Amino acid sequence: MAFAHLKKDLGVRKEQGLFRKRSTLGSPQDVNAVLDNERYLSFCANDYLGLANHPEIVEAFQAASRKWGVGAGASHLVSGHHLEHELLEDALAKWLGRSRVLLFSTGYMANLGTVTALLRRSDTVLQDRLNHASLLDAGLLSGARFQRYLHNDLESLKAKLAKAPEGGEKLIVTDGVFSMDGDVAPVRALAKAAREHDAWLMVDDAHGFGVLGQNGEGLVNSEGLDENDVQILVGTLGKAFGTAGAFVAGSDELIDYLSQFARSYIYTTAMPPAIASATNVALRLIQEEAWRRQHLSELITHFRTEALGMNLQLLPSETPIQPVIVGDSELAIAWNEHLKSLGLWVTAIRPPTVPAGSARLRVTFSANHSIGDVDRLLQGLCSCLQRWPVEAG
Ligand SMILES: *Cc1c(COP(=O)(O)O)cnc(C)c1O
Repeated sequence: MAFAHLKKDLGVRKEQGLFRKRSTLGSPQDVNAVLDNERYLSFCANDYLGLANHPEIVEAFQAASRKWGVGAGASHLVSGHHLEHELLEDALAKWLGRSRVLLFSTGYMANLGTVTALLRRSDTVLQDRLNHASLLDAGLLSGARFQRYLHNDLESLKAKLAKAPEGGEKLIVTDGVFSMDGDVAPVRALAKAAREHDAWLMVDDAHGFGVLGQNGEGLVNSEGLDENDVQILVGTLGKAFGTAGAFVAGSDELIDYLSQFARSYIYTTAMPPAIASATNVALRLIQEEAWRRQHLSELITHFRTEALGMNLQLLPSETPIQPVIVGDSELAIAWNEHLKSLGLWVTAIRPPTVPAGSARLRVTFSANHSIGDVDRLLQGLCSCLQRWPVEAG
């Protein structure tokens, strides 16, 4: 029988308890959310600044769609490149002090298109082991020599850089803020290593933009690195920006090259112009409303202090991504179910998304959470600990 592996693979997934089900959101995306017809206090979105349902952004989206309609109707290189896209690209480039910016429809496509366009078979791509799947997939698809170095480990990276074949280009690729651990890449040291080995550095700061830096400018700029240090800077718009899409920032030459050779840029419909317009308002709010970042950092400090006091196992993260390590996959599901019964929605993340034995609840905070919301979460986690103590170590 043709394609018999479908049934077999699905069966294995289910037996392992790893079959993933979607829940349906029946409310706006916010900290109080209706999921599968029940009300929850949610700690799992990447809407860090609480902008996904912000009235000014919604208004901009409505106004722009009244003016321009909904669909872009074509790809950027045909007739889909709209004035609104142009305005957003310019605003992002100016904000980040980069020569130019190119918009993509999703972060997955930005990474796939960029890495596969730049690398040839004779080149080497070096990636942090914990990079986002879109970066790893891009490296594999590029056909270049593919190397993963130990997480945030400069020695491991340098050993692999030293072994890269002469004559090929070298591209170091890292998340800025790691999506499942919440820690940050040592970008200054990475930039130095790149310089010493005549390599380029690409940083995907999907979770850092809006959140890190005085004005939300992200990890790379807050560390004082420019286009000569980080030649390729990637951001996504579906997280702290609260809209959708992604961008790549870099030199004129890089952006010209991507617009000619990045297949996921060329062969796809441009994002709706109204999304670009709404994103421009989000960009202004990110810069102007520093209280969102201040409040977030108060929530994070409060959570960490209390959680560590309760002997919960946290990771060294100062970002709104605060994983609570549970270890065993089934235990993570038990905690998740128990929290749900208490009206708390926190996703359980299991292998293969994270390494075996490090199943976790991935807690994320939003500027729309209150200290009282964090206390409710802490009470829920305390109740989990009482039922199912986590073994030390
Ligand atoms: C979410 C994410 C992406 C993908 O972005 P989308 O716009 O959702 O496709 C890429 N890289 C990282 C690090 C991410 O966290």
